[in-house]
Amino acid sequence: MAERTGRTVLVTGASRGIGRAVATRIAAEGATVLVHFGTDGRGAERTVEEVRRAGGTGFAVRAELGVDGDVETLLAGVGAVLAGRPLDVLVNNAAAAPAGPLGVTTRAEFDRLFAVNVRAPYFLIEGALPLLRDGGRIVTVSSVATRMANPAQTSFAMTKGAVETMTRTLAAQLGARGITVNAVAPGATRTADNGAAFELPGLVERIAALTALDRLGTAEDVAEVVAFLASDAARWITGQVLDASGGLFLGPRVA
Ligand code: NAP
Repeated sequence: MAERTGRTVLVTGASRGIGRAVATRIAAEGATVLVHFGTDGRGAERTVEEVRRAGGTGFAVRAELGVDGDVETLLAGVGAVLAGRPLDVLVNNAAAAPAGPLGVTTRAEFDRLFAVNVRAPYFLIEGALPLLRDGGRIVTVSSVATRMANPAQTSFAMTKGAVETMTRTLAAQLGARGITVNAVAPGATRTADNGAAFELPGLVERIAALTALDRLGTAEDVAEVVAFLASDAARWITGQVLDASGGLFLGPRVA
């Protein structure tokens, strides 16, 4: 079945990276996309422009996540744009980056990781439920960090483990309304904005060698998977975490 056009979609953290790619990909179906950002207003405006070029309508909505009143601020902005229309899709993509291994992550950084990556999406879902239509979609961006033991990312991986658990349990709760709740777990994904993280000589080749498909992911690779879970085609999938890593750390590549 062709995707219903004119859907309303909120993508958090859409001022760059994977969030921008998701916003642009879903816009191609004629959607109204609420482009959430925290600080990068220029980035969000660029996403709004890319949404428009892709065939959708975009609105930037600002709210710093992980602080008191974050969800209320975001939902006030969302409500103003929707003006009584229901929300079809919520994509929880915004997240704070890894804060280092045990012994390095401070208590303040740990609390912030959980406030941005766990508390904000949890209460955003709660607050958005009255807006979300029956049969709607919730997709949260997790990480392969939950199935790989990477000591450099313990606290970050813990936050992603929490949202995967949230995904399963909320799928059970919200199924009665026909709402599906799923997560996408990207692996190493080079976006237009995080190139510096992969500049270390040889790093890209080392990661590619650990990946079945022998390359880094792109934001567009991940956006396709999010768009699928947000689509009608995925109506029978709920409570799942879809790995979108090109097979990172699957096992030995040769027999
Ligand atoms: P990114 O380039 O760092 O972008 C993060 C986005 O989230 C930005 O739009 C940023 O907005 C927003 N954001 C972050 N903290 C925020 C806060 N406190 N309040 C409001 N907005 C906030 O991230 P990405 O690499 O595209 O990753 C997107 C998602 O994929 C994240 O959930 C990440 O954990 C996951 N992921 C990424 C990779 C990868 O290799 N890139 C791998 C696995 C999982 P502002 O700048 O406007 O504040």
